[in-house]
Amino acid sequence: MTGPLSPLALLDTDSLVADEDRAMRDTVRAFVDDRLRPEIAGWYESGEVPVRDLALEFGKLGLLGMHLEGYGCAGTSATAYGLACLEMEAGDSGLRSIVSVQGSLAMYAIWKHGSPEQKERWLPRMATGEAIGCFGLTEPDFGSNPGGMRTRAVRDAAPNGQGDWVLTGNKMWITNGSVADVAVIWARTDEGVRGFVVPTDTPGFTANEIKHKMSLRASVTAELALDGVRLPASAMLPEARGLSGPLSCLTEARFGIIFGALGAARDCLETTITYAREREIFDRQLASYQLTQAKLADMAVELGKGMLLALHLGRLKDEGRLPAPAISVGKLNNTREALAIARECRTILGAAGITLEYPLMRHANNLESVLTYEGTSEVHQLVIGQALTGESAFR
Ligand code: FAD
Repeated sequence: MTGPLSPLALLDTDSLVADEDRAMRDTVRAFVDDRLRPEIAGWYESGEVPVRDLALEFGKLGLLGMHLEGYGCAGTSATAYGLACLEMEAGDSGLRSIVSVQGSLAMYAIWKHGSPEQKERWLPRMATGEAIGCFGLTEPDFGSNPGGMRTRAVRDAAPNGQGDWVLTGNKMWITNGSVADVAVIWARTDEGVRGFVVPTDTPGFTANEIKHKMSLRASVTAELALDGVRLPASAMLPEARGLSGPLSCLTEARFGIIFGALGAARDCLETTITYAREREIFDRQLASYQLTQAKLADMAVELGKGMLLALHLGRLKDEGRLPAPAISVGKLNNTREALAIARECRTILGAAGITLEYPLMRHANNLESVLTYEGTSEVHQLVIGQALTGESAFR
C-alpha cells in the first residue's frame, strides 16, 4: 500500500500550473500557514479582524490588485490571481474577501473605468494596502436586482453643466465599508447608473458595521448611508456607463471565488483525512471504514473536478476568451460543491467538527455567504439557463 495522497494530487492538477504561478502560490500558502492560520479561529470567534494591518501585509506580498497592470500592481496572470485566492480561502473566506474586494472590486473599478487622475490618486496606495477600498452596489431592497437601486446622484445646478454631484441613498452588506478610505459607489443618475469614487471622510458619508453575523465573521461588513454627499464633477468614473460597469467588476471577483471556494474545501478535506486516520472507532481507524472512504472519495472527486474547471477557466481568461456564462458555471459549481464538502467533512469529525478547534464549521458557515454574494446560486442558474435557452427568466 502506498502512503496517503493529498486530495488534489489525485489528478495531478499541479502539472497544469506554470512554474511561476506555482511559486507564487507556494509563497501565499506559506504566508497563510505561518501568519494567518494561528490567528484565524480567534478572529472568527471575536468577530474582530485587524483589516488595516493585514492589508499592509497583503500589500507587501503583492496580493492587492495583483492581476492588474501598472500603478504598483504585480500584473500576474489571472490563474496566479485565482491560485492566490484559493490559498487565502484555505485560511478563511473572510480573509480572501479582503483581497477580492480590494483588488477585483474597488481597484478594478478605478483601474478599468477611472480617469488618469483617479488612478494616480488611489491605485498605488491601494496596491500597498495603505488605502482600503470598498464597493457599494447592494442596497437593503436591491441585492440580486441592483438595477432597481434607489441611491441617486444629482448634478447641482451650474451654468456650465459641470456642477458638483450630490449622492443620497443607502448601501447594505458592504465588505470593508466601515474601514475603507475610499468607496466606489454606484448610483442612479439622469443618464443611467454611474460609479463614483467617494473618499469616506466626505461629509454626509457614514458607515456602520453589521454585527451578529454567523458567517464571514473574520471580515468587516457594513451598511453605508449617503446623506447629501457632495462630490466634485471629477468624482464620477468616466468610463463606466450603465449596469455593465459594476457587473464588469463582479465578473472579476467571481473569477477569484471560483478558485477561492476550492481552498476552503481543500482545507476541510485535508483536515478530515488527517482526523480520520488518527481517530479510532470500534477499535479501528475511522479512515479504514468503507463508509468513510466512500465519503472521502466522492469529495476528492468533486474537489478535483472543481480544480480542473477553475484551471480551465483561468486559461481561457488568460487567453482573453472567457465567455460570460462560463463564470456562472464556475461560481455555481465550485461554491455549491465546496459547501457540500465542508458539511460532509463535518459529519466525519462528529462532535469535534462543530468546534473552532477544527476549521470545518467555520468554512461551512463562511461558504453560506460565498454562495450568496457575487450572484446567488439561483442567479447563476438563471444566467446559465438564459444562455442555454435564449430566454430570460429573471422576472
Ligand atoms: P435577494 O436578492 O433578496 O435574494 C433572496 C433570494 O431570492 C436568493 O435565494 C436569490 O437567489 C433569490 N432570487 C433572486 N432573484 C431571483 C429570481 N429572479 N428568481 C428566483 N429566485 C431569485 N454587496 C456589495 O455591493 N458589496 C459588497 O462588498 C458586498 N459584500 C457582501 C458580504 C457579505 C458577507 C454578504 C452576505 C453579502 C455581501 N454583498 C455585497 C451583498 C450580496 O452581493 C447580496 O447579498 C447578494 O447579491 C444577494 O442579494 P440579497 O442578499 O439582497 O438577496
